[in-house]
Amino acid sequence: MSQPYSIGTVGTPWGTSEKQSWLQAQSMKRSYDADVVTKILELSARFNVSQYGSLSYEHRVFDLFAIQSPNWTTDKKTILITGGVHGYETSGVHGALEFLEQYGNHYSETFNLIVLPCLSPWGYETINRWNPDAIDPNRSFFNGSPAQESKLAADYLAQFQNNIICHIDLHETTDTDNSEFRPALAARDGITNHNWNIPDGFYLVGHTQKPEPNFQKSIIDEVAKVTHIAPADENKQLIGVPIEQEGVINYDGTKLGLCMGVTDAPYVTTTEAYPDSLKATPQSCIDGQVAAIKGALNYLVNLR
Ligand SMILES: [Zn+2]
Repeated sequence: MSQPYSIGTVGTPWGTSEKQSWLQAQSMKRSYDADVVTKILELSARFNVSQYGSLSYEHRVFDLFAIQSPNWTTDKKTILITGGVHGYETSGVHGALEFLEQYGNHYSETFNLIVLPCLSPWGYETINRWNPDAIDPNRSFFNGSPAQESKLAADYLAQFQNNIICHIDLHETTDTDNSEFRPALAARDGITNHNWNIPDGFYLVGHTQKPEPNFQKSIIDEVAKVTHIAPADENKQLIGVPIEQEGVINYDGTKLGLCMGVTDAPYVTTTEAYPDSLKATPQSCIDGQVAAIKGALNYLVNLR
């Protein structure tokens, strides 16, 4: 069990004033426009960039961008890549952008690509898991979602729904999950927090309803070429869930309202890089994310 969180009363869910206290404690730590939008606009020379919405928070407006491959045809299968659903998970945002930069044109010969590189720009700037309303966008992909980050992305993606064969959602698991975000979640909901072991390395969360173990293995094999895969703990688990195979656990992404449940795609995965590893660098995490996308797409190419 961890220390009680600094906001709220143990055992009592947060009300409006506690959520306001939490929000007041957050601050801007990096710039979405400088780090992310600049890169998106650079890619607009080679890809179709569109704005699918915007978020207004206090004095800030964040434009939300989708990037599509230019040579889009209806006979190609469509691939969805999302990053920054959790804005603090840096390599997901920059992995999505680096994949497009390095390999987007190559893979767009075979597939239609849609990339939403940063669903939660406020979370990117303040290094947060939640949005300003203390809501986790990655538990909010369902009808009537209270999270604008989730709703705007889902509404935009609805037009592609029937043709999306694969969705790769790029995430990280970090030490701050145990030191900050899980204690904050328990405090918000008035429950007791039990931390789990943070896995040292890259792993995947597949979808319980469509696990596709060979697809997941193809991704793990490609990632293992550039960074280390998380070993299971002594209970053969990762984050408290039994492993299915090396580096893979499954969640019911639809039931939990995860981003990976946003489409009916038959091939879905959530990547989890570990930036706090002694063996990791920011670039090795980005390399792992890029390799994960390549591993997924190479599997699907061979399936055709
Ligand atoms: Zn995440």
